[in-house]
Amino acid sequence: MFWVYIKEYTKSNLKIGGHDTHFPDFIFLKKGKGMVSPRFDHLAKNVGLTPIISYGKSWFTMKTMDKKLREEFVKIVGRDCVISEPDAMVDYGHDEFSLRDISRLPDLVVKPRTAGQVAAVLKLADREKIPVTPRGGATGLCGGCVPSYGGVVLSLENMNRVIEIDADNQMAVVEAGVTLHDFEEAVEDAGFYFPPHPGEESALIGGMIATNAGGSRAVKYGVIRNYVRGLEVVTPRGNILSLGGKLIKNSTGYNLLQLMIGSEGTLGVITKAVIQIMTKPAVMRSLVIPFEKFDAAIETVPFLLKRIVPIALEFVPLDVIQITEEHLHKKWPCSQGQTHLLVILDAAGEEEMDRLSQAVAEAALEKGALDVFIADTPKKQDQVLETRSKIYEAIKSQTIEILDISVPRAEIAAHVKRVREVAVKYDIWLPTFGHAGDGNVHTHIMKARSENGKIVPIPESEWREKLDQVRGELYADGRTRGGVISGEHGIGLVKKKYLAYSLSPEQIELMKGIKRVFDPNNILNPGKIFD
Ligand SMILES: Cc1cc2nc3c(=O)[nH]c(=O)nc-3n(C[C@H](O)[C@H](O)[C@H](O)COP(=O)(O)OP(=O)(O)OC[C@H]3O[C@@H](n4cnc5c(N)ncnc54)[C@H](O)[C@@H]3O)c2cc1C
Repeated sequence: MFWVYIKEYTKSNLKIGGHDTHFPDFIFLKKGKGMVSPRFDHLAKNVGLTPIISYGKSWFTMKTMDKKLREEFVKIVGRDCVISEPDAMVDYGHDEFSLRDISRLPDLVVKPRTAGQVAAVLKLADREKIPVTPRGGATGLCGGCVPSYGGVVLSLENMNRVIEIDADNQMAVVEAGVTLHDFEEAVEDAGFYFPPHPGEESALIGGMIATNAGGSRAVKYGVIRNYVRGLEVVTPRGNILSLGGKLIKNSTGYNLLQLMIGSEGTLGVITKAVIQIMTKPAVMRSLVIPFEKFDAAIETVPFLLKRIVPIALEFVPLDVIQITEEHLHKKWPCSQGQTHLLVILDAAGEEEMDRLSQAVAEAALEKGALDVFIADTPKKQDQVLETRSKIYEAIKSQTIEILDISVPRAEIAAHVKRVREVAVKYDIWLPTFGHAGDGNVHTHIMKARSENGKIVPIPESEWREKLDQVRGELYADGRTRGGVISGEHGIGLVKKKYLAYSLSPEQIELMKGIKRVFDPNNILNPGKIFD
């Protein structure tokens, strides 16, 4: 055992004195003048710090893992399902959020194979007051699966069976660790369709449910909340709950099933899900529609939605498309105009599809579209969809953060106008695109400039201190338009200090009360969504 102490604490940084190590057996925190804020004091208690000595000031020990405790976890899941080597745990310390200042190494990674093992891990952690962070595919964009207080990362990757595709009930039963890719494949092989689709197919079903994932097809078919019919969940105290089932209707008591969806791993660990699947649309078609002016493109959206309901309706600026074309060495169907709408349609047959396409084209041209390009063969469609889905990859290295503000659809144009003003005010590149059809706008905060279709990095000193101000201004604008700070990515760590932009103190207090009921010792994903 050795000792370390907190030298300095800021909201985002702990400087540790004494032994400089990621793995102290104990940390003691000195609560003294100017050293530890009352807020940290509260956090410290929440993760199991208890006073050990007093010289007129309080001291705390933090419960971390000694060898004996590690062995108890090993006994539950088996040695081959545990990682404890620091180098091998690096990947378990972060998600897709770009800034590594929020990353943190866990003390241990466990990869259970059954709900019973998950329950035993949580019972032990609860007894010992060890933080446990559930982890899916780590494709999250706001630090939700980062073990910010160390402890155990509970990875669902080994619980990856598609248990059943029940054609009669149109329900799939899957373990939480199945990837979106494998799930889609199994569903499609059985002749069915599953619409929710976050852009990254290595996301796991449990993670998607825990974040209430959406994606571009939400316009017509909704988000994952609309498809989850049953869940097996392990509570932080280690009890296994079976919620819902292969049911379309259920009005039996409080809806704990829906409460779990979007709870970001703070109320329970999802181990199994019953998911509604649907008949595959017979025909699909993508249309790319260039506009000279952004406003005309966005005004087309409500105009179009009065006539038809597409699967997806996205807007993308041309400069971002050009960067992606160069990255992929593939061509987008057109290079006219400044803003493009991507419309994806489905229909029961070719005749209906022609009628829908015609309606889209007429509406768009009436609103000033420069042209309408139709991708009607699977090859052309794949090309368009690939370019759209690879935008993230093309600009990822210079993206600090992807916001996912959700506003009423009719407010998109005004919100994006404000994004542009903020970009000018702070001299920062904020490429903005996203789900025009459902009001979910992805503004990317960049550490680079865009010059003639090329990305030119800028030094950290030019963006670092602007980050909070830019976020704050955009969240404030979203709020004035009746929007919220997250439409699909969740709050995690990164957005929690902005939660009050969307929720009242009473709402936050109620949520904290719910958390306390499920997790009195605050061991499950502590510090996420709120402190
Ligand atoms: C390129 C790219 C595109 C994306 N596009 C979209 C998009 O269009 N729409 C969208 O909604 N999202 C999108 N995302 C974000 C991300 O893919 C989703 O949030 C996804 O649902 C996260 O799933 P995951 O398995 O990776 O979860 P993780 O990142 O591992 O975890 C996310 C949260 O869920 C919790 N969690 C994970 N598994 C469980 C479990 N079994 N039980 C309880 N809690 C759990 C974690 O503790 C954490 O709080 C995108 C991300 C990338 C990188």
